[in-house]
Amino acid sequence: MERSFKKDVDALRLGAGETFRGEGILAVTKALLQSGVSYVGGYQGAPVSHLLDVMVDAEDLLADLGVHVETCTNEAAAAAMLGASINYPLRGGVTWKSIVGTNVAADALSNLASPGVIGGALIVLGEDYGEGASVIQERSYAYAMKSSIWLLDPRPDLPTIVHMVKKGFELSEASHAPVMLDLRVRACHVTGEFIAEDNKRGLYSGQRRLEGPPRFEYGRLAHPPVIFSQERLKIEQRLPTAQKFIREQKLNEVIPGEIDEIGFIVLGGLTNGLLRALARLDLADLYGVSRIPISVLNVAYPLVPEEVREFCAGKRAVLVVEEGSPDYVEQQINVLLRGAGGDTEVLGKGCLPRSGDYSLEVLLRGIAAFLSQTRPDGIDADAVSRRVDAMLAHKPGALAAVGDIPPRPPNFCTGCPERPVFAAIKLAQRDIGPTHISADIGCHSFATFAPFSLGNSILGYGMSLASAAAVAPNMAKRPIGVMGDGGFWHNGVITGVASNVFNKGDGVLIIMQNGYAFATGQQYLPSSNASRSGAPTGISIERTLRSLGVHWLRTVRTYSVGKMVTTLKEAMRTAERGLKVIIADGECMLARQRRLRVEQAEKLKRGARVVKTRFGVDDEICTGDHSCIRLSGCPSLTVKPNPDPLLKEPVAAVIESCVGCGLCGEVAHAAVLCPSFYRTDIISNPNWLDRTVAQVRRSVIDWLSPKREISAQSVEGKNPPIASKPQARRRARPSLRSKWPNVQASSRVTATPTNPAPAIIASSLRK
Ligand code: SF4
Ligand code: SF4
Repeated sequence: MERSFKKDVDALRLGAGETFRGEGILAVTKALLQSGVSYVGGYQGAPVSHLLDVMVDAEDLLADLGVHVETCTNEAAAAAMLGASINYPLRGGVTWKSIVGTNVAADALSNLASPGVIGGALIVLGEDYGEGASVIQERSYAYAMKSSIWLLDPRPDLPTIVHMVKKGFELSEASHAPVMLDLRVRACHVTGEFIAEDNKRGLYSGQRRLEGPPRFEYGRLAHPPVIFSQERLKIEQRLPTAQKFIREQKLNEVIPGEIDEIGFIVLGGLTNGLLRALARLDLADLYGVSRIPISVLNVAYPLVPEEVREFCAGKRAVLVVEEGSPDYVEQQINVLLRGAGGDTEVLGKGCLPRSGDYSLEVLLRGIAAFLSQTRPDGIDADAVSRRVDAMLAHKPGALAAVGDIPPRPPNFCTGCPERPVFAAIKLAQRDIGPTHISADIGCHSFATFAPFSLGNSILGYGMSLASAAAVAPNMAKRPIGVMGDGGFWHNGVITGVASNVFNKGDGVLIIMQNGYAFATGQQYLPSSNASRSGAPTGISIERTLRSLGVHWLRTVRTYSVGKMVTTLKEAMRTAERGLKVIIADGECMLARQRRLRVEQAEKLKRGARVVKTRFGVDDEICTGDHSCIRLSGCPSLTVKPNPDPLLKEPVAAVIESCVGCGLCGEVAHAAVLCPSFYRTDIISNPNWLDRTVAQVRRSVIDWLSPKREISAQSVEGKNPPIASKPQARRRARPSLRSKWPNVQASSRVTATPTNPAPAIIASSLRK
């Protein structure tokens, strides 16, 4: 992979007594190695992709330790990997994005939790909840409760996170249950330091292999009738053992405070936010010393009844700080206290909102509401409320001052190979009319935003085709499913393609084959050109589809918009029944640019020939209707003032970030838009042929150009004021300004963005 995690890998090598500095998720990665894991796996997804990426890059180090790393094809595979810890004293850690990944892994998790484990099994969850989240807003807590998996939610500071990884393995082994480590986005990205320990080899590993399988033990299978005794074990043995361990090892913390008639019970992951809000109100300091006692639940599940009762003893009221619904912790605390006859009032939802991220603003208001309701001695609750109001009073004014901010939806990267496919769908729909489009997870879901606004449902990763199964037989037109190659391997090949062929479906599926799982940070897929070792994977989507019985199959280069339009129309109209699959083939532009940048820099260093292609708009031909922008949505395509003083509409313009993918020209061509677009090849270190061709072109242009009429002013885009636009065009439009492509050669090294294509065109015109 072109990215390098070298620095991060170096951090994993730190030994006892050295200081680790970095992000929370890297600290977890180091903590796994310090805990003596024998295997690591997972499925990428923000905010935990980094763990697996770094592990993959740390091959040498892991080989020394005998740690096996598996890049799983989905979360179910990662969860099933933990099966190694059911029978063997092998410690293992897996990771994925939650809640979506936990949903996918749910079956394997239930079947893991029921028999339980001998070796420590830790699941690092990237809890994508709250501001900036990218998945449906649910929490992982329910899975922990229903499956008897213990849920750690460490306070986001590095020593606590690292300690909880270590203790997580011990807890898992002591209670024979898997453990989840819940890391919110902020915890993954919090930076800090901790004193490292040496990495440890697992008891058994690739370096010291087990002799053989254990004796057959039926009790280790999640299978009836033993599942009934396993249920009893979970409740009657593993739960009390876990609670005892949590209490003895002091995994939860209490921050004392002088105003002890009230208190806060906070999920560990929210502790920093709560302390920050208290500090803003002078109820805590910057070092975490609080005037009001706080019980920090670094273990969110199970709660330890004795600890809860001890903390609440003598308190009139506590505020439970727990994001989202249902209020699992608040309900449990109520039950624990009422069951023991305690009369501490439990507040939570009501003072705090029932849904959404507990940002600083939310916490400030929640604390003020709690204090107003409880009015403890030593705090002027009304003054706190006034202070919070004053702190937040500027917000309506600020909002009014900025006015309506135009929405800025996320978008495909410049030059993305997936954008042309949606331009093609829009063009095809002009002819075939609108149809149902089942969208999917991946970069291509950006097509649900303007300017494409395409997609009627999203049911999960790789589920687009499956989600159209009941649409197709009930709709006059064939639905179109759109799926990425990541989604195809994650789920789509089975739930979508195999099921559709088996059920004799008749829809259309577009598979975006960009070569990587890129929405999660550029990870390899089974069908990538090469695996992480650099060797070809030998797995192809096309062959897989054919082996499943897909007969109508076309592979089309994504940038060939015209061909894509024709193929789509054919797929929609053909009398042939059965699934019709179009593989839209085009390497992810971000990955391509990463690779090209390195290659080109290398070539330039050697003085070798490098060609960069850029596109531009002839602003004297552009009519300003902006169909090109509406059909491509490329962020490098924008508008600028019309150079014609008689015309108001801004003209289209291509800015420096253009990567020359060619979509502009393709769309203009396929949509029969206008001939405004031209292409420029910027050649560094040109060879003799380039120079000769350029010289011939220049001569022809010179010969054809009405030189005296092209003033320097018109070259700069300022037409003579007395000329009408058509006159100005006739005068200022030499043959150079005919329809693209035009090729210019220059001996200038143009590798820097300060030396863009228009300079070269202008210099040609000035001849
Ligand atoms: S990361 Fe790649 S596939 Fe995703 S939007 Fe960017 S160019 Fe397209
Ligand atoms: S050629 Fe057009 S669509 Fe492609 S990157 Fe440049 S401006 Fe964007």
